[in-house]
Amino acid sequence: MTRVPVRDDLRALEGYHSPQVDVQVRLNTNESPVEPPAGWRDAFAAELSRVAWHRYPDRAAVELRAAIAAQHGVDPAQVFAANGSNEVLQTILLTFAGPGRTVCTFEPTYQLHAHIARLTGATVSETERAEDFTLDLPAALAAIERDRPAVTFLCSPNNPTGMVEPAANVRAVLDAVAALAVPGLLVVDEAYAQFAAWSALDLLDEETPVVVTRTFSKTWSMAGARLGYVVGPRWFVAELDKVILPYHLDAAKQIAGRLALRHVGEMEERVQLIVRERERIQLAFDALPVDHFPSGANFVLFRPRTLPGRRVWQGLLDRGVLIRDCSSWPRLDDCLRVTIGTPDENDAFLTALQEVLA
Ligand code: PMP
Repeated sequence: MTRVPVRDDLRALEGYHSPQVDVQVRLNTNESPVEPPAGWRDAFAAELSRVAWHRYPDRAAVELRAAIAAQHGVDPAQVFAANGSNEVLQTILLTFAGPGRTVCTFEPTYQLHAHIARLTGATVSETERAEDFTLDLPAALAAIERDRPAVTFLCSPNNPTGMVEPAANVRAVLDAVAALAVPGLLVVDEAYAQFAAWSALDLLDEETPVVVTRTFSKTWSMAGARLGYVVGPRWFVAELDKVILPYHLDAAKQIAGRLALRHVGEMEERVQLIVRERERIQLAFDALPVDHFPSGANFVLFRPRTLPGRRVWQGLLDRGVLIRDCSSWPRLDDCLRVTIGTPDENDAFLTALQEVLA
């Protein structure tokens, strides 16, 4: 059988994968190491039993949007939710990128920004970060002036580096985007914002072309639920609502998200635990032959000094610890990324790492 060819512009594209291996300690996909609170589980089960499954869900997800809006002190009309922040990013790019438009990224950063942009048919302009993975601000501003992007991405804390973008950089990039003759949009991906000290949410208003994406997958221990959202100006949210499929958020997910927001205190405690554990791992790294990058997220990027990254990754796997092997990714030679786990999982990781590097 001759097969229908994929779109010409997608031929060279590779998928985005994170191989899952069955191991004791899984620290490779930046999930929360703990389950959601028991109170959430019970309330969720109780509400699920009352869902009118023969009906479509609330298309506008009114209660969920209101709960998210209340959490951030904004208007519900400034909130758009979707199936994971990946679908939020996809909807933004379907709406504002596409053929004939340019999307700017600063690499290395979250691979899906460029990947989804290409899926929409947009041209991607990738600007290199400095050697230490900080933003090269003059290069970033020059790229924006030159390429006049419809969408510019910053990611703070950045994945896979973990580094928080200083507020001054975000403001400078935003000023450059706002000064474009053909208006552009700055998307700040804050999937890991709760683990960091500042958020670009403070920059939002109706007249400023900046939006902030968030997820329930990390802090809220709900990667399995697939729920994310963006906060931005009302006009922006109204445009996304025209592009997204009708009824994209099922009834169960709307309930899951709304109820999760009743457990803010427990979630904040978990964030504190992760941040303490992150600091413990960073201190342990200081005593080992590894270079590591300052992280404001629930993971740390590091580079062994004495062995190739791939060998260290395999050595850890042989000891039942799976982390993310970034060593073959562009710009990330020998780099590995470990997600912060429970104290026991982190102990297992550190013990295995000491053995491998001994
Ligand atoms: N943005 C960044 C920077 C991420 O690291 C991730 C998760 N890998 C996402 C967005 C997507 O998260 P989700 O779709 O689970 O909300």
